[in-house]
Amino acid sequence: MSFENFGLNPAILRAVRTKNYLTPTPIQLQAIPAVLEGRDVIGCAQTGTGKTAGFTLPLLQRLQNGPSPSLRALILVPTRELATQVHESVRTYGRHLRLRTVVVLGGVGINPQTEALRRGVDILIATPGRLLDHMRQRNVQFKQLEVLVIDEADRMLDMGFIADIRQILKSIPSKRQTLFFSATMPEEIQKLAGEILNQPQVIEIAPQGTPVSGVRQVVYPVETTRKRELLVHLIEKEKMPRVLVFTRTKHRADDLAAHLKLKGNRAESLHGNKSQQARTKALEAFRNGSVQVLVATNLAARGLDVKKVSHVVNYEIPDVPEDYLHRIGRTARAETTGDAISLVSPAERGSLRSIEQYIGSKIPQVVMAGFENGEKALGLVTKRSFRPRSNRYRR
Ligand code: AMP
Repeated sequence: MSFENFGLNPAILRAVRTKNYLTPTPIQLQAIPAVLEGRDVIGCAQTGTGKTAGFTLPLLQRLQNGPSPSLRALILVPTRELATQVHESVRTYGRHLRLRTVVVLGGVGINPQTEALRRGVDILIATPGRLLDHMRQRNVQFKQLEVLVIDEADRMLDMGFIADIRQILKSIPSKRQTLFFSATMPEEIQKLAGEILNQPQVIEIAPQGTPVSGVRQVVYPVETTRKRELLVHLIEKEKMPRVLVFTRTKHRADDLAAHLKLKGNRAESLHGNKSQQARTKALEAFRNGSVQVLVATNLAARGLDVKKVSHVVNYEIPDVPEDYLHRIGRTARAETTGDAISLVSPAERGSLRSIEQYIGSKIPQVVMAGFENGEKALGLVTKRSFRPRSNRYRR
């Protein structure tokens, strides 16, 4: 099966070819025909599965021949980073079509966006808050809207955007095609989907709670006070080429990045207190390889698409099990492999247990030589080093 079989316009296929994809991913195989048929879709898939192309390619196909420019597609995304990424994808795949794409997101000036909207737009990518601002200023109107895409709906819920989305929906024609994507389906998301979708085709790629295949997961038990030391040691020992480290707080991200720099690593931090410009710069440096270690808060956990992240390190493991999956989903993207390492202190044991319940398996534990106290503290039996734990894990 190849992209040629979907009946997509040659101009779209030409753009896809530049990406050198060998075959469509499972979600693309299912979503592209369904969207082309005009059906509503619920895609239960994580990022890294190729879902963006899964909805973008058929969307472009549908819009290519209509009256242009007129606002016919709206793609709602939870974060600025994801907005930028989806925008890039739409531009890449649509580069040989004459469709206008505009992105509106918070944290940057509104005027250039207003001007771009006034010049005319076919496909609008937006974060909910900023879109509402534009709606209030009457910079957009949705009379011609044919397709609504809601991406990462569960993340929208976490970020408190559901009321905004309901508000936006009031201004959107009810006769439309709706494509709804969410990595997980908590009750409130199911309810929203039930209300806004019309006999959707349900596409479920990784069953809920299943990590992306190709990710090797491991837990290093360690005392909180020795985490920094262990991280520096691991980065050196494992020769990690491109590593994304997650911390719980913005302050810790800055602090840790500074410490890593001090130890001679090319490190940078990424979090919500930084200006949009600083965030873009840090991400760009990480993408082009001039930064080796990016220390980020959860903000970067979802949707971020950086090629070849070799290691994801949970410096502090998340309280919410879904976040664990999103974080480790940043490595091993699209048919490569990667490592997800979690540094777990005794205090985090409960969170680790919830994560293991959520993903349905225990994560192997390895004790790093010289860090045996963490193992004792986690309640493990022996003190031997480098021993995968599974049967030794005491509950
Ligand atoms: P997404 O899940 O949309 O964020 O996509 C994850 C990554 O997979 C992106 O870097 C895409 O460029 C890449 N990708 C998308 N479709 C394919 C494909 N058919 N084969 C290989 N990689 C792909």
